[in-house]
Parts: sequence; structure tokens; C-alpha cells
Amino acid sequence: MERKDAEKLEYKRSWSVPSDQAELAKVEAFIKDYRHFIDNAKIERLAVNYTEGEAIAKGFKPFTLGQELKAGDKISYVNHEKSVMFAVIGKKPLDEGCRIIASHIDNPRLDLKPQPLYENNGIAYFKTHYYGGIKKYQWTAIPLELHGVVYRADGTRIDISIGADENDPVFYISDLMPHIGKDQMSKGASEFIPGEGLNIINGSLPLDTDGGVKLKVLSILNEKYGITERDLITAELTAVPAMMSREVGFDRSLICAFGHDDRICAYPSFRALVDAEEIPEHTSIVMLADKEEIGSYGVTGLGSETYPDFIKALCEATGANYLACKKNSICLSADVGGAYDPCFGDAYEAANSVYLHRGVAISKYTGSRGKSGCSDASAETLAKVARILDEAGVAWQVGEYGKVDQGGAGTVAADIAHYGIEVIDCGVPILSMHSVTELASKYDIYEMLRASVAFLKS
Ligand code: MN
Ligand code: MN
Repeated sequence: MERKDAEKLEYKRSWSVPSDQAELAKVEAFIKDYRHFIDNAKIERLAVNYTEGEAIAKGFKPFTLGQELKAGDKISYVNHEKSVMFAVIGKKPLDEGCRIIASHIDNPRLDLKPQPLYENNGIAYFKTHYYGGIKKYQWTAIPLELHGVVYRADGTRIDISIGADENDPVFYISDLMPHIGKDQMSKGASEFIPGEGLNIINGSLPLDTDGGVKLKVLSILNEKYGITERDLITAELTAVPAMMSREVGFDRSLICAFGHDDRICAYPSFRALVDAEEIPEHTSIVMLADKEEIGSYGVTGLGSETYPDFIKALCEATGANYLACKKNSICLSADVGGAYDPCFGDAYEAANSVYLHRGVAISKYTGSRGKSGCSDASAETLAKVARILDEAGVAWQVGEYGKVDQGGAGTVAADIAHYGIEVIDCGVPILSMHSVTELASKYDIYEMLRASVAFLKS
């Protein structure tokens, strides 16, 4: 065999960067929409409101249990305000299966403790309890936003969002100056800012000449929202970085933002579903789940029966057999991949890593060490999805999280597999996963949209 023929046999990753100007303009337009979403939906409740609102504006109707459905019907189903599912009923009966894309809209962040407010030496603070896997030291000395809901004793609800608008105040966790940081600097990175050290400054003026900084904060909260300290105890408030998404590099090829993981997959899959102009062959379902970062537990996590029950309800609404539907369905567990980071190359195995600008990352398995806790998709599933993406000309690549013994991670794939539905991980590769801002390729984000479109059409 001649060398040029032999070289054709080699596998090479393709680029996700389009060369065509019209295609590049489409990428920029989509990235603008994506950035609007992530800058305005920094917690799961906001992401539910945002997507549900957009879907309703595009003709989706809230699904009511017991209603009948037919091809072309578009529905949404909000699950306890923190997760949401969307579906478009396809031409084929549901017995022939659905095309499901499942991702998550919760992010690692700092939740306020149930009894958060206290005062210490003239400063008022909120105690926090971190949610998901964070590097605690990154959360000091940056501006923070506060989002969530508070219920007054009489049951009335107040939605709180402070810090996103540039005229809003922000919140802040102090760090020790290096000048007197000898003891702190000698500790390991997981200890030098302990969990109990993540205390958010929320006020510093006294109520009167006798002091009372906590009382001053309570009086402001009462004047502005009509709430008391008792109401903070039943509230759900979350702090996230007060930072908006930005373009990175002279070539503006990358986007840094808080919480790409996993809204970077949620938004493209959502848009692929709501923007589809034709009725799909198979019923399309997009699941935007909560609680992935803490193990998918809880009524809004993908471990909840609510999700398969929704599929069951769709089967009942169209007269299909649930077991047949699950057996013939296929799901993309759409979650971010860890892109190879040249500055931390020792943690990766280069040949089995995914790279920026090389398209969506497919992972046959995730898990830790010996694939522990993952669903490990079969060759049949991987081959099927690869064929769908190849036929649509979508750039894709395969890779693992890092070196085998370095650690690992899980996704919602195991939960989907538990329902009895064939599933594989497919998402956007990112750098600095779980940092206060994460980095991703514009072109890979757009490729996630193209992958979602191709998958839902298949
Ligand atoms: Mn994720
Ligand atoms: Mn994550």
C-alpha cells in the first residue's frame, strides 16, 4: 500500500471551526443568544423560567396529565420549579422510541445556610454551605450575586436577584493579606480556605450609635422585602460569581463564563428542540435537570421517577406501550467533557483526551478509577451516535476525563440507563471545569447545537 493510501486509514480529529463566512456568522449569532441565557440564568430556577418562557412564546403548551397528544404537539412540563422537560411528539408512534437529550442546569456554587445571618466585629455575614465540587479558594475576593426565593410567614413569595445589574450592590468573601499569611500559605489548597471560612459580607453599617450591624441588615431587608430573620430560615438563597461571560483571546475564539457546566449543553439541546421547523420522525424530548452536581438526588434530580414518569405519561397520551418505548429510545446524556489542558498535561492522557475546537466530546464511559459509577455505553450505542453525527457532518471526538488513576466524574447517564434507556455521554469540552469561570470554544458550542439537531432528527 502506498503511503498516501495508508494515511487515509488513520483516524484524525476534525476541526469544529467553519471556514465558510455564512456559517461563522451563524456561530456568532448563536453565541450571542447563548451568552444572554447564561448571563441571565445563573441558577436552575432562572434557567427553568428562561427556557419555559421561550418555549411558551414559540407555541409550546404546558402538559396536563390525562390530555391526549398527537404528532406535532409541543409541550413543556415544569418539575417543582427547578427542572423542566420539553417534548415534540413525532410522526412515528412512541412504541418506536424517543430521541432524548438530558442535561443539567444546576451549577457548583455557594448556598446560604438555613440560619445564615450573623455579625462579627462590626461586619454582617451570611454563612454558606457549598454545593457541588468547588475549589473553595477561588470564591474569595470576587464579587458575588445572590439569587433565590424567600417565603414570608404568611406564605407570600419573594424572588430575589441582586448583583447582576451593574447598579446593584454585590457581595464578597474576604481573603487574608499575604503579608501575614504565613500559616495560611503553608496549608494545602483544599484547607487554606475551609468550608466554614466562606462567609459572605453583606453589610457593615451599624443600626445606631450602639452598634447593631446585623440589625441594620435586617432592617434593610424588612424595608425592601417585608421579611424577617425567620423568613431567611425557610428561604433558598444562592451566591454565584457576579461576572458576565466574555470573549477570550485576540481571536475571540473562546468564551469564559460562570457555569458553562452544563448550561453549555442544556441551551443548545433546548434550542435544537424549540427551533425545529419540521415534525420529527421520533418524539423529541429535552430534559433540563437539577441536582446533577450533588448526585442527581432529590425530586428535581434525574434520579427521580418524575423523568421516566413523564415518558410514561407521553406513552399514555398517545396510546403507546411504555416498555417498547423505552427499549427503542436512545438518549444523549449531554454534559461537558474535560478538555486537555496543556498547562496541566500530567493529569491527562493525550491520545484519549478531548480538545478545544474539535467538536463535541463523546464519552463511552465516565466514572472513577475502574469506571466506578458509570453506565459504560455499548459499542452499538457509540457506533449508532457516531453514524448520526458523521451523516450530519458534525465534528466529534472521543476522550476520557484524564489519566485512569487521577480521579474521575459521573454524569446523568447512569440515571438514564437505570430507566432502561440506551444512553451515551456527549457534550462540549471545556477548560477549568468547576472553576468560578470556565472556558469553552464558540465553535464547539455551536457544534453541540448541530449535534442536537442531527440527533433529534434521526
Ligand atoms: Mn456537568
Ligand atoms: Mn459538573
